[in-house]
Amino acid sequence: MIYLSTRTSWQKSATKISLHNMNDVIYPYPLIESQFFEDINSLTRKHQHYNAEMGLLNIAGEEKKALDPDFWILIWALDFRDRMFQILIERHPDYGGKGAIAAVGPTDLLEFFGSMKNNAILPTLTLINSPEKMKSVVVVVSRPKNYQERSKEKNQYQAMGRFQNWINKLKNTPNTKGQWFPSNAPTCPVCNGPIVGIQDGYKIGFGMLVCPDCGHMERKEIVKQKAYEKKF
Ligand SMILES: [Zn+2]
Repeated sequence: MIYLSTRTSWQKSATKISLHNMNDVIYPYPLIESQFFEDINSLTRKHQHYNAEMGLLNIAGEEKKALDPDFWILIWALDFRDRMFQILIERHPDYGGKGAIAAVGPTDLLEFFGSMKNNAILPTLTLINSPEKMKSVVVVVSRPKNYQERSKEKNQYQAMGRFQNWINKLKNTPNTKGQWFPSNAPTCPVCNGPIVGIQDGYKIGFGMLVCPDCGHMERKEIVKQKAYEKKF
């Protein structure tokens, strides 16, 4: 099992969850191209029911050894048949710029992967990236050390920036530490760290820059039309 502590918009307080190690049924870990993550990040800009949240607090492996949450994202989704998907993905230099599905939940999903093996991966990811078939898709990313509770909208943009940051690092792996960003990358006027652009693959507005660490935004264009609701 892999052990997580999460605090999402639908959880009243920090909550421990445990997910099944993917290696229980598939070895080695299935590796996912970065385009899949870019597509989800674009969907979070386009659809009310696709969101990013900074809710991944702690993560620990098999021997309960603490791992760095910045290397992980959790896709937590519900489809229109009310099936839940919890897919934990790791970024690691060993995975050659791809994300590894390291753990899943609930048990039904593990059993599905166990029976279909790698043939289950593409249909599952395609389903998650199909807005008309999903009730809710949330990408849960780590929180920055200086996390501040802001408006729901601002928190979401920072979460999207942290997700984009995770994708950028994924693609640049295995660069050496501290070399993720080109030297001409724009820096945050507040905390001086690199800021990232959130991709707008669906051409629904122009680009936006957000600081993954402090949440500072350079431009803000897209306003979601309705307050979003989640029902898990
Ligand atoms: Zn900043």
